[in-house]
Amino acid sequence: NRQIILANHPVGMPTAEDLPLQESALPELQDGQLLMKNIYLSLDPYMRGRMSKAKSYAAGVPLGTAMQGGTVGQVVSSKLDGFAEGDFVLGFGGWQDYAVQDKTTLRKLDPSQAPISTALGVLGMPGFTAYAGLLEIGQPKEGETVVVSAASGAVGQVVGQIAKLKGCRVVGVAGAEDKCRHVVEAYGFDACVNYKDDDFETRLAEACPNGIDIYFENVGGKVFDAVMKLVNDFARIPLCGRIAHYNDTEAPQGPDQLSAFLTKLLVKRVLIKGFIQFDYAHLMKDFVKDMSSWMQAGKIQYQEDVVDGLENAVEAFQGLLEGRNRGKLLVRISED
Ligand code: NDP
Repeated sequence: NRQIILANHPVGMPTAEDLPLQESALPELQDGQLLMKNIYLSLDPYMRGRMSKAKSYAAGVPLGTAMQGGTVGQVVSSKLDGFAEGDFVLGFGGWQDYAVQDKTTLRKLDPSQAPISTALGVLGMPGFTAYAGLLEIGQPKEGETVVVSAASGAVGQVVGQIAKLKGCRVVGVAGAEDKCRHVVEAYGFDACVNYKDDDFETRLAEACPNGIDIYFENVGGKVFDAVMKLVNDFARIPLCGRIAHYNDTEAPQGPDQLSAFLTKLLVKRVLIKGFIQFDYAHLMKDFVKDMSSWMQAGKIQYQEDVVDGLENAVEAFQGLLEGRNRGKLLVRISED
């Protein structure tokens, strides 16, 4: 069984030395377990946190063990009631060829309903994050302006499309011209601004002539600063991710902005709320129902970026932290 293990806690960008590929023997199946052959591995920004020693909402991956992550795959052998050889499943199979799983991590998939890869993307955790954060915290109302960063990615592409379905003006922020074009042409965003352009702040202001009512925050950094200049009274900010800071090795330079920031929240009566998608599990049923029907009606599109081979997972993950992915990033570990 090939595995990518966490050998060191990375400093800055994770490297192949931090995450080497190793062979390991498969453990014997116990009652209540099954052996799953991973087909797709989901690569997600939260994994950078799991590689770190810093305390977070979930424990880090222990050094010397396989990197964890969501996977879809096929059951090879089963000692778990309700699951048989050949079944397609969503699990938490990690960065490896095969995984032993029990019922706590498994959901059966029906490949006739949707491509199995979508259980890791638009119909899975990233899609659910978009749904829960936008609808519960953002509370979008018709005619409001919604800005979303990392707009072309797994979460951002869904945020923008749901906001459009709710009748909002949607402005994306992304780091490449083709990403900006894609969200406008494929997902119907009203505009998208490249934060790497010199005149980014001016362009963002032009794209939001009525200010910003909801900012779905995925990145932090200069994008956040620019948005804060445009927030309206009673704006809502679902604080979903801060990817621009995940490889930071020290606190940002310059004067502490916290006091000015808190004054802005007060004066504009802004709601800002951090959230982790699993806190909203009670919405999962509604999500599956709504998202499936939107997709069947052709109202939600999605883009996946599939990299072939487990041996290429580390480079692909580096690409995610540098914006090289186009849509939901997946590694194809074996053929489906
Ligand atoms: P994406 O598919 O959006 O991929 C990550 C993207 O982030 C890159 O393509 C890049 O796009 C952007 N990015 C990378 N570095 C920077 C940077 N320095 N500054 C600005 N943008 C950068 O990933 P996901 O959709 O899976 O995740 C998006 C965000 O949502 C992440 O912050 C993630 O941690 C968070 N998240 C939070 C969850 C929760 O429960 N709170 C659950 C799932 C995700 P670009 O080219 O546009 O810069």
